[in-house]
Amino acid sequence: MKICVMPGDGIGPEIMEQGVKVLNVIGEKFGHKFETTEALIGGAAIDATGVPLPDETVKACKESDAVLLGAVGGPKWDTIDPAIRPEKGLLGIRKELSLFANLRPAALFPQLKDACFLRPDIVEKGIDIMVVRELTGGIYFGEPRGTKVENGERMGYNTMVYYEHEVKRIAKVAFEAAQKRNKKLCSVDKANVLDVSRVWREIVIEVSKDYPDVELTHMYVDNAAMQLVRDPSQFDVIVTGNLFGDILSDEASVITGSIGMLPSASLGASNPGLYEPIHGSAPDIAGENKANPLATILSIAMMLRYSFNMAEEADCIESAVEKTLSEGLRTGDIMDVGGKLVGCTEMGEAVIKNL
Ligand code: ATP
Ligand code: MG
Repeated sequence: MKICVMPGDGIGPEIMEQGVKVLNVIGEKFGHKFETTEALIGGAAIDATGVPLPDETVKACKESDAVLLGAVGGPKWDTIDPAIRPEKGLLGIRKELSLFANLRPAALFPQLKDACFLRPDIVEKGIDIMVVRELTGGIYFGEPRGTKVENGERMGYNTMVYYEHEVKRIAKVAFEAAQKRNKKLCSVDKANVLDVSRVWREIVIEVSKDYPDVELTHMYVDNAAMQLVRDPSQFDVIVTGNLFGDILSDEASVITGSIGMLPSASLGASNPGLYEPIHGSAPDIAGENKANPLATILSIAMMLRYSFNMAEEADCIESAVEKTLSEGLRTGDIMDVGGKLVGCTEMGEAVIKNL
């Protein structure tokens, strides 16, 4: 198995170092050969080559079976020409690999439940959600779009478009994710107002015929936003379009209260999947051995589960993370729930010990 590793900027290299160590130990333990190659992206790539996504990086990613990313960006490149900003590297590689599905689990580890700001009786019921967001269509890309002056007045417009093939393929990813989890899927739309949502719903129902073991429900997005904070335990997998998914995945992640803990996956049809923590490059703590590597380590578990079908290996990593939290180890970002303050390296080493 070939894996392209892109540490990126800020805390990226620190967290990725711990992640790769975990991957190597899992490889030894289960007898897999994970072959890693490093590639440049973001600010690191700009410094070395002048562009945020060099051709060699795209080539290295396409030749791999999966891609791991740390984080990109930072104040050093804030004043650079917008056309070659570090973030363009990330958007560019998502596009190059046609990654149309973004999977963002938001799970609250019981050891960190005091970090969650919901009512204790709600937290007690548990939070373990996955938002599957369509990433390459919808209102962010629909045509026509633009701004103009009409009758002396400025106006702007965008179009929410979904084609059947786009809805079908994201629905499939979501049903398959639900099969690997608790077999419940909630499709979120605005079918009471939007025509595009009525087509979305119709197609999701058609796709559901192929997944009789998954229970499908539908919810309007305004209600879903409310239900997520009212009682997140009612959800397993949520599937939705680009705009609604952008908002709901951020909402779902923030209720867990720990940005340094959350992984993500972006998947395409045939290209390698891309796995990364949801947090950014955290320039305020970069290079200080303070970053939480667990989001990256959990992203590697997702990679094993979704790109390599290695459920047992993924479970092993997730249990080791849980054990480490049970031992009371905390990086600064999750310190408010109490425990023993450790650095990025110590946290990584502890997970390895628990594997
Ligand atoms: P971006 O635009 O890249 O998303 P951002 O500033 O919006 O950057 P982050 O880089 O994620 O967001 O940082 C937000 C805050 O969370 C910062 O104070 C940062 O130090 C903290 N943070 C983010 N990730 C981690 C982590 N892995 N460990 C510890 N703290 C983190
Ligand atoms: Mg951000």
